[in-house]
Amino acid sequence: MNILYKSTRSDAAPVTASAAILKGLSPDGGLFVPERIPELQKPLSVLAGMSYPELAYEIMSAWLGDFTGEELKHCIDHAYDEKFDTKTIAPLVKKDGLYYLELFHGPTIAFKDMALQILPHLMVTAAKKNGVKNEIVILTATSGDTGKAAMAGFADVPGTKIIVFYPNGGVSNIQRLQMATQRGENTHVAAINGNFDDAQTAVKNMFGDRALADELASCGFQFSSANSINIGRLVPQIVYYVYAYCQLLASGEIAEGDFINITVPTGNFGNILAAYYAKLMGLPVRKLICASNENKVLADFFGTGLYDRKRPFLLTSSPSMDILISSNLERLIYRLTGDDSAKTLAFMQDLREKGSYEITDAMREGLRDFVGGFATEEENFAGIKALYERTGYVIDTHTGIANAVCRRYREETGDLTPTVIASTASPFKFAGAVIGAIAPDQAAGKSDFELIDLISSLSGVKEPFAITDIRTAPIRHKTVVDAKDMPADVKQFLKI
Ligand SMILES: *Cc1c(COP(=O)(O)O)cnc(C)c1O
Repeated sequence: MNILYKSTRSDAAPVTASAAILKGLSPDGGLFVPERIPELQKPLSVLAGMSYPELAYEIMSAWLGDFTGEELKHCIDHAYDEKFDTKTIAPLVKKDGLYYLELFHGPTIAFKDMALQILPHLMVTAAKKNGVKNEIVILTATSGDTGKAAMAGFADVPGTKIIVFYPNGGVSNIQRLQMATQRGENTHVAAINGNFDDAQTAVKNMFGDRALADELASCGFQFSSANSINIGRLVPQIVYYVYAYCQLLASGEIAEGDFINITVPTGNFGNILAAYYAKLMGLPVRKLICASNENKVLADFFGTGLYDRKRPFLLTSSPSMDILISSNLERLIYRLTGDDSAKTLAFMQDLREKGSYEITDAMREGLRDFVGGFATEEENFAGIKALYERTGYVIDTHTGIANAVCRRYREETGDLTPTVIASTASPFKFAGAVIGAIAPDQAAGKSDFELIDLISSLSGVKEPFAITDIRTAPIRHKTVVDAKDMPADVKQFLKI
């Protein structure tokens, strides 16, 4: 009865959930997808009485069938605890007619904590279950946020180490401070002389280096990755969409069975895919509104059926969504083909070789659950400002994209279904851009921390601990290396 996971790119034998979490990617380069989607096991009115950890258990146990109840509870209890600044974990707040699902109450004040706080525990458990004796070494190149969120998750988790490389001078001052002050004896951070691509390429090369893998194994280590295609990140994200619905139900905003819409500011397509999986499990969701910034590959795809990455890469004020290849979309494509791995493989080959692919009309039928849209920088800023002026509520620049796209969709279509907006980062994390939107005349000449103070006074929200901490936390990581010396740096940290 346990759900097994198969590759999107071949019909190789399916594997257990724990094996899929350990491997991350299928050996054929495909992503792991469930052989079938589990259904919600209890009525929504019952789920609505549950705490976040209880609901997480309910949902995740349906997907991760080879974890025992005890194992899964252990993982959940070590993830969704006091590291979050609210017992609710993911509060839902109504502002100006929309429901903002605040996914930024974890240690790095962005939604990636929701999955990265639990992934390390899932991985260690998966390793034990599969007889892996090696210690897991997470290796990541980051352009800012993911690396920090991964470190915060893996810090001091027994049986793991984590190594993060970021481009020297290529991240914001606050991001640099967040990483350089990271605690945990099992964490290592190095700035590299080069850009993000240099760091990323060197990390990929290390993953592919057989000699290095052998050397590591002989010393009791093995590499793994924490990136967003791992089902161990996807499954925990399904929970908060069900939780949002339950909060609406519990507070009487909707009745059991009423439909909602969900809007997600999208980059790699992981977060919105989780919302889609929640819908497929039986959550009453009408439309999934996929919001892009000016890198609007996905908005174009939902409009035309053509996925075309051949376009300039734009730097926007929602940097975590500046992406031209949304890796997790492959899972939706696979479903649209009717679970046909040969067809999916062909599309992905086209993407790699030609930079684009076009789905068939029959496949486009399956896209009816989605609406794609994008917002420009100006629309984003105007929306953040309007919401602030009407309600005093301040949102960040990623949430702002969803806000702008969603409000325009409602105006244009008249579809006024109660709508949840995935609020993916705290405004304190992107203080400069947010002040630029709500009080541009007050931004000039201010330091990062002065901008943060200003957010606090304008919004009336106390600054989160993640910010207070970096004001005074000692700098623990000062390493700077050339990209070519990254393997040596890894070995030095592992003492091999
Ligand atoms: C990663 C991220 C996103 C994009 O999420 P995907 O799952 O990659 O689509 C949006 N907002 C913030 C703040 C993020 O960190």
